[in-house]
Amino acid sequence: MRGVRLAGGLLVIASAAVLTVRWPWQTVELPVAEAIEVMGDLSTEIVDTLRSGETLSELLARQGVLDLSLAGLDPAVALDPRRLRSGLVFAFRRPAPDSLPTRITVRATPEQRIIFQRAADRWNTAVESIHWRAEPFRIEGAIDNSLYEAIDAQVGDDQLDAGQRQRLAWDLADIYAWQVDFTRDIQTGDRFRVVMDRLISEDGEVRFGRVVASELTMSGKSMTAFRFEGGGRPTFYDADGKSLRRAFLRAPVQFRRISSTFARARRHPVLGITRRHQGTDYAASPGTPVMAAGDGVVLRAGRAGGYGNLVELRHRNGITTRYGHLRGFARGVRSGARVSQGQTIGYVGSTGLASGPHLHYEFRVNGVAKDPRRVELGNGAPIGAGDREAFERERDRLLAQLSVAPDSSYRLSAISAW
Ligand SMILES: [Zn+2]
Repeated sequence: MRGVRLAGGLLVIASAAVLTVRWPWQTVELPVAEAIEVMGDLSTEIVDTLRSGETLSELLARQGVLDLSLAGLDPAVALDPRRLRSGLVFAFRRPAPDSLPTRITVRATPEQRIIFQRAADRWNTAVESIHWRAEPFRIEGAIDNSLYEAIDAQVGDDQLDAGQRQRLAWDLADIYAWQVDFTRDIQTGDRFRVVMDRLISEDGEVRFGRVVASELTMSGKSMTAFRFEGGGRPTFYDADGKSLRRAFLRAPVQFRRISSTFARARRHPVLGITRRHQGTDYAASPGTPVMAAGDGVVLRAGRAGGYGNLVELRHRNGITTRYGHLRGFARGVRSGARVSQGQTIGYVGSTGLASGPHLHYEFRVNGVAKDPRRVELGNGAPIGAGDREAFERERDRLLAQLSVAPDSSYRLSAISAW
């Protein structure tokens, strides 16, 4: 029952029914309402969960609390009654089993526990901060099929739950968004190494923090990435201090928006039907946002024969990109409009000659279609001269962490004593 700290004493699980609670930071299986009673002295603590479609008032009423209103709460309290998630867990403490609750606690966010304490004629509110400590973890393994599966194979549920493993995969894909199309580029023999911050709360919860260093070896080519916070925003640099950012993303759909089961060499059925197919197809659910692969200007946004709804962008150096079969266009995307890399320009659909929802993407150089995953995008911007020395120190520190030989007794090696 980690994740919910209750008053000390005997823990009784009174129900066998289990509810899977998905906090944004963790998935926990909790017994359904009134399942846990913790009895220290005479007091009782009952855990109840906000159900889907239920209001907080309904939950409170179920526990006999009719006079607690969240209106007018201190803005520092992260509990907006209009935006409560189902699955939110409340603990009700009663001084005696048959009395009304006098204390209610809820973990509103990963960082905050809110406590309502009954006073003579009202409820007082207090906020407790939850401390999380960062612990570096190193993982490495083969990527045989998909990044998700590769990470799943190396990390146990007790180390990071499935949702957090997915976040790690998304983070890695974002870091290499200019180098790798993870939905297509994986080959047998590819490998990954990553050092991440794993966060552990004082309640013992575990969640993914962030990637601080990684190395991908794909088709025999190694790509390292080191997180560095210089003067500006945190950026990932290669070992030479060049930013991983490039003028074009390898794929104009976020990896996280493409089905997690999407694996290597999986081809959309549409591909191959068109005899002169000059693009890359991304199967994604209708409505998935499509991003501008690079900064540019909209050449056209409208109906275009077999392409259906098409956006065409003009970039520097004679490069144009096309995004076809869109369900619709993002607001403001019209001929002549400027767009920046990563900006949503439209939504996946199946307009035109498309047998199912997918994005048809073309990358053209002087009118000639190229494979967007193979186009040479040059070097990234070098780190500022003033930051170089600090970067190199940080890079060396991270490189040492990345290179530590994995402990044979653990699939995931904790490196906690640096
Ligand atoms: Zn296509």
